[in-house]
Amino acid sequence: MSDNCSFCKIADGEISSHKVYEDEKVFAFKDINPQAPVHIIIIPKKHINSLETILEEDEAVLGHIQIVASKIAKRFPEMKKGFRLINNCGLDGGQTVFHIHYHLLGGRVFAWPPG
Ligand code: 5GP
Ligand code: ZN
Repeated sequence: MSDNCSFCKIADGEISSHKVYEDEKVFAFKDINPQAPVHIIIIPKKHINSLETILEEDEAVLGHIQIVASKIAKRFPEMKKGFRLINNCGLDGGQTVFHIHYHLLGGRVFAWPPG
């Protein structure tokens, strides 16, 4: 838990969210400003600033997030034909909340390259 981190507060229940998944290591909730019909944010409960500051010891939880993303996607018929899992890292990467998180997006066709 890091003071003044909104995603730590969401994982802790201090800030309310629409939870879609939780286990001992990970929390997932609906994005407040969805960019697709399904837009879910998946975070480790441990506070990590960004992909730039991960440690070897974070390998298990970051791998676990991909398992969780796949499980969540299976629950949404909108993601039957595919989905996108995105990490925005740092200012140029478009990161606005500095608690590492992965966007799970589905329910529409996504363009490449991203904007
Ligand atoms: P980033 O731009 O850092 O990759 O993504 C942050 C995401 O978190 C944005 O899509 C934004 O809409 C979402 N977000 C920021 N604050 C909150 C919040 O308090 N609640 C929820 N549910 N989503 C949030
Ligand atoms: Zn945090």
